[in-house]
Amino acid sequence: MRKSAEELFGPAGTPKVIVIGAGLGGIAAGVKLKKAGVETFVIYERSASVGGTWWDNQYPGCEVDVGSYLYSYSFKQRFPWTRTHATQPELLRYIEEVVEDYGLRDHIQLSTTVESAAWDEERHIYRVALANGQVEECNVLISAVGFLNTPRYPDWPGLDQFEGPKFHTFRWEHEHDLTKKMVAIVGTGSTATQIVPVIAPVVDHLYVFQREPGWIIPKGDHDYTQEQLDRFRGAVARRRERIRLFTWLEMANFRRAIHRPGTKVNANLESICRGFIDSELAERPDLREAVTPSYPFPGKRPIFNQTYFGALKRDNVTLIPKAVTRVTPRGIVDAAGVERQVDVLVLATGFQPTNYLASVEVTGRNGRSLHDEWNGEPEGFLGMTVPGFPNFYILYGPNTNGGEIISFLEHQSSYAVRAIRRMRRERVTAIEVRPDVFRAYNRWIQRSMKGTAWVVSNNYYKAKTGKIVTQWPYGALFYMFLTNVSGRLSSTARRASGSSRPVDVAVPASAA
Ligand code: NAP
Repeated sequence: MRKSAEELFGPAGTPKVIVIGAGLGGIAAGVKLKKAGVETFVIYERSASVGGTWWDNQYPGCEVDVGSYLYSYSFKQRFPWTRTHATQPELLRYIEEVVEDYGLRDHIQLSTTVESAAWDEERHIYRVALANGQVEECNVLISAVGFLNTPRYPDWPGLDQFEGPKFHTFRWEHEHDLTKKMVAIVGTGSTATQIVPVIAPVVDHLYVFQREPGWIIPKGDHDYTQEQLDRFRGAVARRRERIRLFTWLEMANFRRAIHRPGTKVNANLESICRGFIDSELAERPDLREAVTPSYPFPGKRPIFNQTYFGALKRDNVTLIPKAVTRVTPRGIVDAAGVERQVDVLVLATGFQPTNYLASVEVTGRNGRSLHDEWNGEPEGFLGMTVPGFPNFYILYGPNTNGGEIISFLEHQSSYAVRAIRRMRRERVTAIEVRPDVFRAYNRWIQRSMKGTAWVVSNNYYKAKTGKIVTQWPYGALFYMFLTNVSGRLSSTARRASGSSRPVDVAVPASAA
């Protein structure tokens, strides 16, 4: 006779779920699980607080570059944003409020690092090893570790010998007062361009090291006026603003136009960027030349910034349009061999985006690790699932970057939760993507990269082999459609021969 859900999964009758990470992805997953009546889950977070990237990145000037009413969950629109683009502290407050609103606190274990997970093919469970030595079991594993979570520390000769403070923007060291200091910042991506205008007025001198410039789109960020704050108290105005921002992005992404040189949308945006350079740096031809990219728009991840060019014009700021190659005990040496003495070194050198799941080793049905399976070229079906890794869902996985991220995280969470409901409803213990669907999907995704500016530019989207493994080349609506229709069609389901009831999974007492 067919086993009941209670016999299969325990008294609650729902699969036990472990979510890795309490950033925007893990919290979206928690909310969707709760909404589906699944209380048997725990979210492990390695940091001492929730928030993910918005906890990790606390550098001066840190704020989102998507409009606040779009960079927020569809289920939590009511929040008094004070700016067009929320600052990092405001985003953390928002995330904390979602955790409270949806009763997630009891499900989250902070300062708990997941090191590895291994599938047990007999019992259809994952055995999850934590850094504190504990081993937990679950039926379903959701990775919500994020995309830009492993900093790229340079390996320049002499870096260790630098005598002053040096730190990566991902771990800003606020104890060092930069007032009247000689400071070097290396990198000119989205992070550095937010920091430079904020620290330039206080330092003695700031050297900005640029290896290759990015295209900069004027951001138009500002604090909301009182009239706007009053207006956004109303649900209709909030919804209208969200639709306006979403529609702009969808139109720009339509038929991959924004990423493809030769389209009207692409040409228009490149010309906006060129116009911005000309107007901001009219009297500084040296800077104009140095910050103008020589590759087609967008090439790299475009930068949204209003104040960076203005800061570069200050007397106490010098743009060095050269890579850093070496560090001495007191100085930074550029590719031309010139050394500049500084007190503090800020590494705005970015992350390792193609190194998916860098901190967690997941082993699948065949005893092979996911990293071995990927062999340097990460891929997933819709970025989420991989053959041989049943009941494992990756939020913000391969080839899902570039769209409207919060909406992606919500749809990915819903996809996983639909599979969990199916496990309960159909009394199945393993759901796995079909290898033929997985292969066909990834061939199609790679074909879609043709003609984009990404292919011909230097960026962090490419694996070492040159394959673009991070980008989603379409809009959010299309992704939503695919996630909504493909779950059952793309997967197979089976039942374990033995008991698949996990033991020792820490879930709130009320749900055990
Ligand atoms: P990034 O975009 O990867 O930038 C790293 C920078 O370091 C690049 O300019 C890179 O130059 C430079 N670099 C590396 N090695 C160097 C060397 N030896 N000498 C000189 N320069 C060197 O990293 P990020 O700025 O931290 O941004 C990462 C991503 O985080 C962004 O693309 C965005 O997706 C996200 N982000 C978002 C926000 C927001 O929403 N507000 C804010 C910040 C970041 P090359 O370009 O030549 O490689």
